[in-house]
Amino acid sequence: MTPSVDNNLKQSYQHLFEHLEQSRQRVQPSFVLQEIGTVKSVSAGIAIVHGLPNAGFEELLRFPGDIYGIAFNIDEHEIGVIMLGDYSQLNAGDEVKRTRRVVDIPVGADLIGRVIDPLGRALDGKGNLTCKQRMAIERPAPEIMTRSPVTEPLQTGLKVLDALIPIGKGQRELIMGDRQTGKTSIAIDAILNQKDKNVLCVYCAIGQKSASVAKILATLKHHNAFEYTVVMVTEGNDPPGLDYIAPYAATSIGEYFMEQGKDVLIVYDDLTQHARSYRELSLLLRRPPGREAFPGDIFYLHSRLLERSTHLNEAHGGGSMTALPIIETEEQNMSAYIPTNLISITDGQIYLSPSLFSLGILPAVDVGKSVSRVGGKAQRAAYRKVSGALKLAYAQFEELETFARFGARLDASSLQLIEHGQRIRSCLKQAESSPQSVAAQIVILLALTNGLFDSIDLAAMDSAQSAAIEGLTSLPQSIIGKLEQAETIEEHDKHIILDMLSQTLKPFTESTLRTGDKAQFMVEEANG
Ligand code: ATP
Ligand code: MG
Repeated sequence: MTPSVDNNLKQSYQHLFEHLEQSRQRVQPSFVLQEIGTVKSVSAGIAIVHGLPNAGFEELLRFPGDIYGIAFNIDEHEIGVIMLGDYSQLNAGDEVKRTRRVVDIPVGADLIGRVIDPLGRALDGKGNLTCKQRMAIERPAPEIMTRSPVTEPLQTGLKVLDALIPIGKGQRELIMGDRQTGKTSIAIDAILNQKDKNVLCVYCAIGQKSASVAKILATLKHHNAFEYTVVMVTEGNDPPGLDYIAPYAATSIGEYFMEQGKDVLIVYDDLTQHARSYRELSLLLRRPPGREAFPGDIFYLHSRLLERSTHLNEAHGGGSMTALPIIETEEQNMSAYIPTNLISITDGQIYLSPSLFSLGILPAVDVGKSVSRVGGKAQRAAYRKVSGALKLAYAQFEELETFARFGARLDASSLQLIEHGQRIRSCLKQAESSPQSVAAQIVILLALTNGLFDSIDLAAMDSAQSAAIEGLTSLPQSIIGKLEQAETIEEHDKHIILDMLSQTLKPFTESTLRTGDKAQFMVEEANG
């Protein structure tokens, strides 16, 4: 070997040794202890896990195959875990690891227009979500000092609600009724009416049939409501754990927007299913059953959820979250456990009656059993002016109608009330997915309270209403503007509107029978 080659080799070795020495110094070996538990048993959405002595309450645990679960029952020797994924592949003896975090969900503007599950996975085939931020699904409700009273109305586009049971931004209004009475339709109509109104909507379907969800998604799509709506879905065959976390996850999404100062409308469809899933989990975890086999903390389940909907004050951005929780009653029993709990948590309820539904009076809102405890203060002046008289006349009508059915002979003024009541009922009827603008509603209500419909045949009421709404276009722009804002209508403007209405309704007015005669005739006919 020549001396120069020898030297070169020596240098290379030196280099290599120096490099190795530097690397060795950089490496600081340390030991990280990882707790690993084992699955003892798994079934029906619950896993029992051994080990993991330091796992915390509600900590997310990871099972093989990227399946997650929530540590829910922390006992001395084992943990009861609520499974959030397909647990059918898991076996006793599988490893379980801690994640040191709680369940969270991606939040951000990217969610708008998407359909996701409660873990933030896309269900609409439009690719993964790109949101950077994540928020825990369980968050404390805003403190009292950060809240402000409900002052702005949230228009649902349904006359019966906007006029008689008004809802304000930040209110929690329960929708309740037996199965198939139009509960979902009311909530969806309220979402459809938020188009171009700067209100973000979150619709949370809990444990529903795929077919029902598909129908709802199709309605939202058809009316371009996805432009401002986030949909969260768990279906009937998902594990009950997903049903349990769904409303909390949806609320976190709503809160993200509310904290940015936006107005949010959130619909939980429905909380009966949520309570049932929670009962199932609690019983499987061997928690002691209470009334109707529900666990003792069932009230807390829903109160901590709905307490998060509120109207924040200006210092906190002025955003709001209006909640429309839905629950299903059985055999019209409003005083069952879950309904009474929710009635006491919310600021009012919209009760849907199966008998009205079967008579075709849709939406089947039972005005007598429905109430809005805070919305009245937020209602616009123009509505407030007509709603008092309307409510009274409608209540009197419903009472008299029952009398008339039993064949009582009624005097002329009572018959007049019945005639008027029938017109009110006809005006409060509204087809599905056809929310009406504020101006259209006010015009109809004005015509109604001023008795302009009273001499129109019931069969012609629909076309008369359409004509009245069409007549709006002939009004001066300044008046239409005021109607849209639903401000107080000045006497001068009111005369112009009423003139327009009597002109447009003239063709529908009957000339043959006077109101009283007709009512007498109808009652006699009803009495046989
Ligand atoms: P479920 O108990 O199954 O959840 P639900 O109470 O949510 O039922 P919906 O699904 O909203 O009821 O409505 C039941 C049926 O009534 C649907 O077929 C719907 O199309 C119809 N419906 C609801 N509201 C109206 C309406 N205003 N006009 C006409 N049809 C309506
Ligand atoms: Mg429904």
